[in-house]
Amino acid sequence: MDRLSSHRATKGVVEKHGFKFSKSLGQNFLIDDNVIDRILDGARLSEGDKIIEVGPGIGTLTREMGKVADKVVAIEIDRSLIPILKETLDEFDNIEVVNKDILKVDVQELIKEKLSGGPVKLVANLPYYITTPIVMKFLEEDIPVTDIVVMVQKEVADRMNAGPGTKDYGALSVAVQYYCDTEIVAKAPRHMFIPQPNVDSTVIGLHVRSEKKYPVDSEEIFFKTVKAAFGQRRKTLLNALSGLGFLTKDEIKEVLAQADIDEKRRGETLTIEEFATLSNKVNAKVPSK
Ligand code: SAM
Repeated sequence: MDRLSSHRATKGVVEKHGFKFSKSLGQNFLIDDNVIDRILDGARLSEGDKIIEVGPGIGTLTREMGKVADKVVAIEIDRSLIPILKETLDEFDNIEVVNKDILKVDVQELIKEKLSGGPVKLVANLPYYITTPIVMKFLEEDIPVTDIVVMVQKEVADRMNAGPGTKDYGALSVAVQYYCDTEIVAKAPRHMFIPQPNVDSTVIGLHVRSEKKYPVDSEEIFFKTVKAAFGQRRKTLLNALSGLGFLTKDEIKEVLAQADIDEKRRGETLTIEEFATLSNKVNAKVPSK
């Protein structure tokens, strides 16, 4: 079973079908064998795996996953790719293509219906324009996902992987690392795609923890606290937390003292553990209580 990942093979398929790349759908197809192997390794792919792929394109990565996994469900928005995928994935009876917009798919239902209830892995070269909504959808909607191994814009991977006190650390780092252990799997410079995008990419592995590492009393208040702390990055926590909207300055001083956090610190220096402690103190002060 041959690969589609060489420049020539991809060009051949595209030309044969007269396919026109859509920039607005983030269509940059991967043409590097080595990166594909790194993605498969990063996903620790094995024969019992149930995979969801978002945006199979012409099926380059899909085929390689189909050779190993138990089942692959590939969700592709672009109707003009469906006949191409029919051809390139023809020999696989364990791959199913769904012609839908991932943001409109009820993923829980899809897993029940097509992947025996999971657990699943999300493995994909994601369209750039909706990377974060897709990843957060899988993390926040109680989807039985164990690993997310995705190609994203380099800067987004850096933010997901960043630690406190670094320039890339922000609300996205905390949101992702609240659920997952993160790992940079591979670098993919722009020349590894056709057409060539004007950004470089990185494959990041997000390994979802089976047990919660940071016990928070209210996830809603935790994420509101994080958002307020980073919402006004240059301000001290004492000032930034006024963004929560329901604590007086004295109450902010009080919760920071209770959490043993200096009020002059900035949000970007707090570890996730500190955010968890702080949000529990904030939660105890929520007006309706
Ligand atoms: N997997 C292929 C590869 O690596 O060569 C293609 C990756 S390309 C970066 C992104 C793919 O996502 C395209 O096939 C595009 O049509 C598809 N796509 C874009 N928006 C989508 C959406 N909302 N739902 C599902 N697929 C989408």
